[in-house]
Amino acid sequence: MMHEKAKELVIYNTLSRTKERFEPLNPPYVGMYVCGPTVYNDVHLGNSRTFISFDMIYRYLMHLGYKVRYVRNITDAGHLEGDRDEGDDKFAKQAKLEQLEPMEIVQKYTLAFHEVLSLFNTLPPSIEPTATGHILEQIEMIKKIIAGGYAYEVDGSVYFDVKKYSEKYDYGVLTNRKLEELMEGTRELDGQDEKRGRLDFALWIKAKPETLMQWPSPWGWGFPGWHIECSAMSTKYLGTRFDIHGGGMDLQATHHTNEIAQSEACNHTDPVKYWVHTNMLTVNGVRMSKTAGNGFLPKELFSGDHPLLDKGYSPMTVRFFMAQAHYRSTLDFSNEALQASEKGYKRLMESLSTLEKLEPSDTPTLQIGDLEAKCYDAMNDDFNSPVLIAHLFEGVRIINSVSDKTASIGKEELETLKRLMHTFVFDVLGLIDETKSGVGSDVIEGLMKLILDIRKTARENKDWAMSDKIRDELKEAGVEIKDTKDGVEWRL
Ligand code: AMP
Ligand code: ZN
Repeated sequence: MMHEKAKELVIYNTLSRTKERFEPLNPPYVGMYVCGPTVYNDVHLGNSRTFISFDMIYRYLMHLGYKVRYVRNITDAGHLEGDRDEGDDKFAKQAKLEQLEPMEIVQKYTLAFHEVLSLFNTLPPSIEPTATGHILEQIEMIKKIIAGGYAYEVDGSVYFDVKKYSEKYDYGVLTNRKLEELMEGTRELDGQDEKRGRLDFALWIKAKPETLMQWPSPWGWGFPGWHIECSAMSTKYLGTRFDIHGGGMDLQATHHTNEIAQSEACNHTDPVKYWVHTNMLTVNGVRMSKTAGNGFLPKELFSGDHPLLDKGYSPMTVRFFMAQAHYRSTLDFSNEALQASEKGYKRLMESLSTLEKLEPSDTPTLQIGDLEAKCYDAMNDDFNSPVLIAHLFEGVRIINSVSDKTASIGKEELETLKRLMHTFVFDVLGLIDETKSGVGSDVIEGLMKLILDIRKTARENKDWAMSDKIRDELKEAGVEIKDTKDGVEWRL
């Protein structure tokens, strides 16, 4: 059943550069494709922001009653270091560095990626296809593009012909740029180049004898270019035209521009109705990335083990911090901002616990008014989570005033307040109460206190064997303890 508010959802579409009413192609079904990680190393906090933003969008669409097929790929082959088909293969390079098979690299970092996203309480996508699992589909697509005259082969590699494509289609449609402008940003071709045009890009790359991951194709042994995997997998699972395509803004100019060109040249239809791009997480105004050296990992954030961090922050503090910014705004990382989010998140969770204990009154003095409608309006306005959070804090104020008895609330209103707080905090923003589960939970705190008390008694009795056993076994179980002059500190 669709929620009555579903028809009011408005999404900013990068393609039209305006907010548009959300009308899926085939309601209540929604096809959503998000470019996933390149799993040659750990995802950093910036990457995580993009996936958390789409998790919120996914959650809200489902809350409205849509049946979403959410496809998020894993790039596990074909990603060269340069955006223009140059440089080393990222997987081969990392495999050499770690002395592992490329597929061991893929497995290791895919597992790490899943672990991080589950700590952030993101829902798994409906399908998570890999590039290496779809080599045949990519080859078939390239064959069709060549047959249509939009790609050419040179010595075992295949390139997309942007000039030819531009005779019929608008190659710069996504970024609203003219071909000449796009050309200016690229280097001139020299005699060594196989490409015919400066904007042409590889669909298939000829393997060298030493290339670790290579497959047979009609053009000889090689591997796919980076962009073709997303065109092939989105077409396979969502069809030639689908509703939402997402990714970080940094993917617009090259990856997504090329995806549109490939899909359109192959399937003769504009592949995506709504293009959604998330903005970057920055550190002192600079985009977080591993190459800039400012890309810390989520696990460093949780432990506080990084020169940029004053202390550790819990996954839900970070998720809340991210939701406090709109997904299309940049979000600048700072310890001060995270500490403020930590307080805000705790206040929200405390008030939700208080809410459970509130009793309705027959003589209410307080109305919640249109608070629930305001929450929907915020999310319906292009998923405006910061405005939603401002409304939720109106809810917190109401809860606190009823709790400290400066106001009272009627039965029905209390039910509405409970429904809206739970829906938006847990189902839509995807927060969980960490004080009730996992790190920081009351149960773990209680157990740790008990164990450390036993160890203290052992030490007072000079039972060093017992004291050391407790320390060592805790360590084995993943808890590190440190004796300080103020007592014992512990961390997971
Ligand atoms: P990658 O693994 O580099 O292909 O990136 C995975 C996703 O993270 C892509 O959608 C990128 O656009 C996104 N991304 C990369 N850096 C950042 C950042 N600093 N903030 C937000 N998203 C990012
Ligand atoms: Zn992609």
